[in-house]
Amino acid sequence: MPALALEQARERGYRDLLEALDTAVREEAGSLAVLLIEVSNLPELHARLGFEASVTLMRNLKEQFDAALAGRGTVSRFRDGTFCVLIKGIRNAGHAQLAAEKLWRTMDESMSAAGIRAADAHVGIALHPVHGSEAGELLRKAQLSAAAARKRSARVLPYSDDCASELLQHWTLGEAFAEALEAGEISMFYQPKVRIADSRTAGAEALMRWLENGKPVANPDVFIPLAEESGLTQSTTWYALSNALRQTAELGGISVAVNVTPAMLHHREFLDMVQTAVTNWQTRPGQLTLEVTEGALIADFEQAITRLTRLRDLGIRISIDDFGTGYSSLSYFKKIPANELKIDKSFVSRMLQDVADRRLVETIVTLASQFRLDIVAEGVEDQATLDTLATMGCHYAQGYLFAPALSFDGFRAWLARDRGAA
Ligand code: C2E
Ligand code: CA
Ligand code: CA
Repeated sequence: MPALALEQARERGYRDLLEALDTAVREEAGSLAVLLIEVSNLPELHARLGFEASVTLMRNLKEQFDAALAGRGTVSRFRDGTFCVLIKGIRNAGHAQLAAEKLWRTMDESMSAAGIRAADAHVGIALHPVHGSEAGELLRKAQLSAAAARKRSARVLPYSDDCASELLQHWTLGEAFAEALEAGEISMFYQPKVRIADSRTAGAEALMRWLENGKPVANPDVFIPLAEESGLTQSTTWYALSNALRQTAELGGISVAVNVTPAMLHHREFLDMVQTAVTNWQTRPGQLTLEVTEGALIADFEQAITRLTRLRDLGIRISIDDFGTGYSSLSYFKKIPANELKIDKSFVSRMLQDVADRRLVETIVTLASQFRLDIVAEGVEDQATLDTLATMGCHYAQGYLFAPALSFDGFRAWLARDRGAA
């Protein structure tokens, strides 16, 4: 079907649905539930089953939903991978939720039968007259709650004003981040990495800060995933990488570590991007470290190893971040072309109170030394922890005991003091 005809068919489908909903609202004296079922892994279905088979699967789903509803509701295809179900005579939200759960299970069974592990689907619910008296409003609220269900990784979520405002806030924050990035208003901060043997600064980890009038708008744990959701994976990494290399070049080419998310490591532009940044800022071999988490490796191990090996051949150091929190097995640990292991702060901060954490840190330090890897402890907040790490043979430490992440000027002043103390 030509694009315009397809678009017109979609629009007609939407209008037909609204009309049916409108009639149902007018005819139904009692309450009515609008369920919106969104299948999020449609691209996966197309890729794994083939287009024809996945289209058939979706068509069959409609019939299976009809059967599960046993005449108590009507099902229509809303758009690709989305179904709208109207159920009349619903007494309360609990009943609507039970019906939604039943439809979810129907879908899950159907997908498992087709060889897909589990349905990645979310059901939003809006009720007439509680959530609205007009068809358009009900449909919009069912859509909002389906999107909120996806964000919370919930199967089923009835509409509430809270879930709607949470979602709108989330979208607004995403737009604001995109604007701040575009306007160059995101700063790179630098947390010193200290060599334990002589307390000298060996480099820094570059960490993003989104500040307005000196106050954080949101923390990186929030805005980095948000940026990826908004399709900004590449531009966010480019921003961090190029600014960190530019600024550390200004500081005489001090070593710097930049964080790389799993999505970025596997992005097709990744290797080119790193190469361009390194060439632009004449980064010397060994000056740039890329921190990747175990999760990034597990996603596609072979591709990760190939890419990391290419980077290492270019003279870039590889650090395994948050080491110990993933599920890596030793058999593939030995294949990772890493230069450094970074012990996660959750183990470091508890190691003096918790024997198990202390043994874990000790084991990681021993493992690193056997494989001749550098070892960095993050989250070092007190002298006693540092002393213990030193006895274990840990090489480097980062943490509030020395400094938090500092602004570029703050880090420049820090380095001047460090060099003055030589
Ligand atoms: P991470 O890479 O594990 O970074 C360490 C986090 O621990 C940083 O939080 C740092 O400020 C904090 N930290 C440092 N010393 C201490 C300490 O002594 N005690 C405690 N409790 N915390 C300490 P931050 O900057 O909020 O970053 C959080 C996470 O966000 C990072 O975890 C990293 O995964 C991500 N992130 C930050 N900046 C970037 C970036 O530019 N790019 C990417 N891809 N991710 C980033
Ligand atoms: Ca890190
Ligand atoms: Ca960490």
